[in-house]
Amino acid sequence: MGNKIKVKRQKPESVVKKAILLLEKEKGVPSPKPYKNPLEELIFTILSQNTNDKNRDRAYASLRSRFPAWEQVMKAPVQEITRAIKVGGLANQKSARIKKILKQINDRYGKLDLGFLKDLTLEEGVELLSSFNGVGPKTVACVLLFSCNKPIFPVDTHIFRIATRLGLLPEKCSDAKAHEIMNSLVPPQKVYSFHINVIKHGREVCKPARPRCGECVLRDICPSRDRFPSPEAD
Ligand code: SF4
Repeated sequence: MGNKIKVKRQKPESVVKKAILLLEKEKGVPSPKPYKNPLEELIFTILSQNTNDKNRDRAYASLRSRFPAWEQVMKAPVQEITRAIKVGGLANQKSARIKKILKQINDRYGKLDLGFLKDLTLEEGVELLSSFNGVGPKTVACVLLFSCNKPIFPVDTHIFRIATRLGLLPEKCSDAKAHEIMNSLVPPQKVYSFHINVIKHGREVCKPARPRCGECVLRDICPSRDRFPSPEAD
């Protein structure tokens, strides 16, 4: 360990700027796809909590096929919703949350539609979505970024891990603080690209247990690059 060259500490803004360029060079510049409408994205994101993409997709497809209209979900007994989304995990918790949120939306706006979010400012959208029970900063950011194309950066588990390793976030940091810090660092026009590319990087290279630092395009700017033993080929 004695002859390893330390990475010079750089300003977080500079690390983010370089990371955006390096990841875009390696993985390309992803462009936003047409996505779900805001209500669909909200429920979809709730279903994504604590599970993988495959099970989230299966839970969402099962929910939509069992209850084609949101009104049916709102009126269904919680146990039936739980059954429909079981494959996604934490089904009891998620079903109660989904039903409650649909009821809140319906009581407040007289319909199950959040399409108007697209016409609000970013701040108004954040305030509105945060007011629903059980909707945290990541869900707020996912809905506004993916379904309304607003420049807000969601911090999921991959992003939290990589940002911490890059020295952008403290090891112990609340969800709200992590979102506040990352949103102050990522330029609005790069929010989508950086979000998608960091997640890809987290799945392919900067994995939770055995990051592949030796083949990482961020290694020259990463203060954690020597913290992990080289993984065997996997
Ligand atoms: S150098 Fe290692 S710890 Fe740092 S971002 Fe790359 S894979 Fe992750």
